[in-house]
Amino acid sequence: LYVEQPLGEGQTVPLTGDQAHYLFAVMRLVPGDPVLVFDGKSGEWLAEVVEAKKRAGVLICRENTRPLQLPPDLWLCFAPIKKTRTDFIVEKAAELGAARICPVQTDFTNSERIRRDRLQAHAVEAAEQCGGTYVPEVADLQKLSDLLDAWPERRRLMFCDEALVGAGQALGAAPTGPWAILIGPEGGFSDGERARLRALPFAHPVSLGPRVLRADTAAVAALTVWQQALGD
Ligand code: SAM
Repeated sequence: LYVEQPLGEGQTVPLTGDQAHYLFAVMRLVPGDPVLVFDGKSGEWLAEVVEAKKRAGVLICRENTRPLQLPPDLWLCFAPIKKTRTDFIVEKAAELGAARICPVQTDFTNSERIRRDRLQAHAVEAAEQCGGTYVPEVADLQKLSDLLDAWPERRRLMFCDEALVGAGQALGAAPTGPWAILIGPEGGFSDGERARLRALPFAHPVSLGPRVLRADTAAVAALTVWQQALGD
């Protein structure tokens, strides 16, 4: 279970209404029962239920059971698409070990707004589901040009496009360190964006194969290929 407050030995943890409902109504836990909790910063903790009400409750943190496992320094940057497919991308990015998830507005992006809180909740659920101790932060929507302007040169960018070089080949000899993957919107990148991306000294254009993938499929494929080549 993910909790926002920092955890430590002997720390009491008040539950939200939803968390209490899940633990006591769905999982049928009662006082004295153990629960594994994490705060995204201090690893996993064994906690105990001390108070169980219908929409409230309290846990107490007993001992640290696992250290924090940080994912590789990999960001997933993508142009938001339809709501459910954007939810899917965030969920899969958290499962596949992205350290940060950055929705970006490109020339052909349809979405002007995102529900950051809703997307962050999907990242939390995915981290809980896969037994992680870390939750990637979902950033606010930002313009691709602003993101690239603020980009430190040391960060390597794998941008997925109709490149001649396959992702596996491009990453084969690539250095580790901070990276980002960039996936375009359904309409792809504009000519101007392509030109700018291709001129960046730290950008690697890669192909994910001869078929045009939906953006959500491309995000999953790109994360998988990157993790295979450079991840943990
Ligand atoms: N008509 C668009 C175009 O020509 O770019 C197709 C966009 S595709 C539906 C959405 C995004 O997924 C692309 O911008 C790209 O980032 C990624 N993508 C899809 N298929 C890909 C492939 N075979 N290789 C590399 N990237 C791909």
